[in-house]
Amino acid sequence: MKKVNTVAVVLKSINYRDSDKIYTLLSKDLGKIPAIARGVRKISSRRAGNLDTLNLVKVGLSEGLGGMRQIDEVSGLNSFKKLKGDYALSIRCSYVVELLHKTTEESGNAEEAFELLVKFLKIASRFPENIDLAVRFFEIHYLGLMGYGLNTETCLRCKKELVRKGPLLYLAPDRGGFFCDDCSRSGLGFPTQTVGKLRELSQNKLTKTDEKTLKDLSTITSALIDEHFGIRIKSRELL
Ligand SMILES: [Zn+2]
Repeated sequence: MKKVNTVAVVLKSINYRDSDKIYTLLSKDLGKIPAIARGVRKISSRRAGNLDTLNLVKVGLSEGLGGMRQIDEVSGLNSFKKLKGDYALSIRCSYVVELLHKTTEESGNAEEAFELLVKFLKIASRFPENIDLAVRFFEIHYLGLMGYGLNTETCLRCKKELVRKGPLLYLAPDRGGFFCDDCSRSGLGFPTQTVGKLRELSQNKLTKTDEKTLKDLSTITSALIDEHFGIRIKSRELL
């Protein structure tokens, strides 16, 4: 039987039969996969705690019956405890996981998505007070990975640098960018500094952000996610 070791984040789990669980893992080497763990619902199982949702784990997998992978061994690398004990933090993490889960294909190449999720979890654990900015960071990079990168540099029509335009720039979600106010004033308008903040996030810079800008960023990513994925992310409504 083919065995493979990889690292993964646990996205979700469902009970299966009397004592088993089927987990959805976002793994570094195999992408998003379902994997069964036998006997984890028994009180004596030491593996169960390691496989909590959001945990970063090292797993040893073998190919089980029916082609589904089986989790033979698991060791915890990071359980991101801080993110689970607080409601506001945990619903934001649930949202990120739901977005990933609903939009990542099974068994596709997901190494970059895996790395991005781990990066998000680490940033959010380290700076829980900035979790909203961390979620926006995740969304912007995730959209980019999925081929929906946002042009925050130049106007979609006149190609002039957006930093020199304003005071408002107009988002065109379907075209992945903004119009300056000489070129179009339809749709949602955002201050130039909000677009500057988006640019910083896409360059991996997370700096202090005021409430109004955070709200604008959320409106922008929400519009892009609606446009490109066209699915309802239930947990977003709780944010
Ligand atoms: Zn323009």
